[in-house]
Amino acid sequence: PERAARVRSLIRDVPDYPAEGILFRDITPLLADAAGLADVVDGFAAAVAGLGEIDMVAGMEARGFLFGAPLATKLGVGFVPLRKAGKLPPPVERVEYDLEYGSASIELRTGTLPEGSRVLLVDDVLATGGTAAAAADLVRRSGGVVAGLAFLLELAALHGRERLDGHEVTTLLRVG
Ligand code: IMP
Repeated sequence: PERAARVRSLIRDVPDYPAEGILFRDITPLLADAAGLADVVDGFAAAVAGLGEIDMVAGMEARGFLFGAPLATKLGVGFVPLRKAGKLPPPVERVEYDLEYGSASIELRTGTLPEGSRVLLVDDVLATGGTAAAAADLVRRSGGVVAGLAFLLELAALHGRERLDGHEVTTLLRVG
């Protein structure tokens, strides 16, 4: 609880960014704080301890990389970046998904996941769940099994969890 309060105090709420009416959660003060950053990585490791075997951590671009890679080293497994379209050299697997305006794609290098490997997905913020649902889909299509999804912060009012029905979802902090 004390650790959670410290982490929460290091996330800055920025009104009307990147557009009017949006309350953006900025984690850069948290990243810059040595104890806060360690708290988050330790918190993730504790939160995923009950998920069973994890063979690989996959992080969503870009902030999922920041927590996913240190978490992978802590768990003693490798890390896979799930990247926005056009960043990885071919061959890649790709999943397209809808955004509020338009669409986006994420990609994973073909052959990165051993068939049947249990993958933990990591990102900073769970908002509508669209990105995470696409990432879970991508892992499955690439031969992996989704062991669970872990987020630093859940924006509960956006009901992202509902889009991830059937998956184990763990979040270190929740706000309304
Ligand atoms: P979703 O697909 O709507 O769940 O949005 C989640 C994605 O958008 C994640 O990759 C987040 O990094 C990013 N995101 C959404 N809202 C915020 C925010 O308030 N702060 C930081 N990242 C956010």
